[in-house]
Amino acid sequence: LKLKGLGEFGLIDLIRQKSPQGQGVQRGIGDDATEIRLPAGHHLLTSTDLLIENVHFRRDWTDWNSLGHKAVAVNLSDIAAMGATPRYLYLGLACPGDTDLADIDQFLNGVLDEASRYDVALVGGDTCHSPGPWLIAVTIEGSAPACQAIGRDGARAGDLIMVSGTLGDSALALQMLRDGRIPDAELMARHHRPTARVELGRQLAERRLATAMIDISDGLAGDLDHILQASGVDGVVDELLIPVSAVFENGTDSRPVRQELTLYGGEDYELLFTVSREKLAEIEALGAELQTTITRIGSVREGPGRIWLRDSTGATHSLSVRGYDHFCRT
Ligand code: ADP
Ligand code: MG
Repeated sequence: LKLKGLGEFGLIDLIRQKSPQGQGVQRGIGDDATEIRLPAGHHLLTSTDLLIENVHFRRDWTDWNSLGHKAVAVNLSDIAAMGATPRYLYLGLACPGDTDLADIDQFLNGVLDEASRYDVALVGGDTCHSPGPWLIAVTIEGSAPACQAIGRDGARAGDLIMVSGTLGDSALALQMLRDGRIPDAELMARHHRPTARVELGRQLAERRLATAMIDISDGLAGDLDHILQASGVDGVVDELLIPVSAVFENGTDSRPVRQELTLYGGEDYELLFTVSREKLAEIEALGAELQTTITRIGSVREGPGRIWLRDSTGATHSLSVRGYDHFCRT
């Protein structure tokens, strides 16, 4: 069965039937606008991401369920990076009329399964025909008690730079796919089914542990640069401290390759944050509690916003920043 057999309103109806009612939803899918009741004293945090076929994903490298999962996970990660609680999801979807309904169903299952893991409700969206590529626009709303969200601008000289999990796995998987190799299941999952650090982000905010925070979507260098620019400080990163997984270690054979993937690779969806030194023990306790590796990779110092990399010889040099810029691809 094809999408054009079901039609726009048939599809919206299908989505509505598959979506459990969310908490605080006064009016959800089916009216002109969604009406939400927020808890008193909470602020609304909103983030949007676009996923475009052949720009962000390729049909032959992923499956529809994973794509739905990832579309939600990357948005959850933005809310996590603010230290907020994700709550509501909006799905904009454009695809060709000859799309198999089975593919859409798999995609929706990926979206709804990942959302429900965090008690996030799909409460609205828009549905359109596309003349060619799929286009997926996900908007997520989260909430946090007033003055608790963590921005990019709070890093201060003397703070430590911390990162969750390991870096480079997703970029290694992508590189292998580009080279026509098949990454093993663990690497593939890091790329296609990332896990947002929702609980870690929220706890860092609730316990007031992080001074600045961002999620790593564009690579450590580019995303650390965002914190340093916003905060008006320099950062020193110790190359040897950058955490990598065993599969990453085994799958990369030289230091330059590892450096390229961890610093510039992106799509790790780990949290990068700064903390004052006195909080280090509390951070370690939180990591143990959540069974999440949190690694100190460097420190913040006075400066105009440069990144310094201390390499394995102990020499420190300033690092060029080249995050991913959609309009400056070479
Ligand atoms: P309008 O013409 O007013 O934009 P639509 O017909 O596009 O209304 O949407 C009707 C209802 O269905 C709205 O509540 C909208 O939020 C919801 N909706 C439409 N597309 C989607 C989708 N892809 N996912 C979730 N909800 C959707
Ligand atoms: Mg509409």
